[in-house]
Amino acid sequence: MTDCIFCRIVRGDIPAHKIYEDEKVVAFLDIYPINPGHTLIVPKEHYERLDQVPPETLDAMIRAAARIAPAILRATGATGYNVVVNVGKSAGQEIMHVHLHVIPRREGDGCHI
Ligand code: 5GP
Ligand code: ZN
Repeated sequence: MTDCIFCRIVRGDIPAHKIYEDEKVVAFLDIYPINPGHTLIVPKEHYERLDQVPPETLDAMIRAAARIAPAILRATGATGYNVVVNVGKSAGQEIMHVHLHVIPRREGDGCHI
């Protein structure tokens, strides 16, 4: 998908603060973070919806979340995190390239997910 913003980030055509990469996924900081350290995990292949992603790529996405979350918490001082995926416009999906949000949390941060 040449015009997809996350495909362009995966290819390196537009800049992003990448914090993790492997064969299947890339993780980078969200440009409009809900909390500091808010990170997006995207498959390198373009899929729109979670239910279209092959099992091995789903595994890579959730494994990446579990792997990077402790480092994100250490870096931000957060004590917890949400892993969220919005699927479909009605659920708040704005970028039609599936992605996991890893959102660092702390007590009383006033964040409503
Ligand atoms: P969605 O609403 O689709 O679940 O989430 C899309 C997320 O992508 C939003 O949190 C938004 O801030 C983030 N985002 C949109 N455009 C860019 C961009 O160009 N770079 C980065 N790093 N994040 C983006
Ligand atoms: Zn894409």
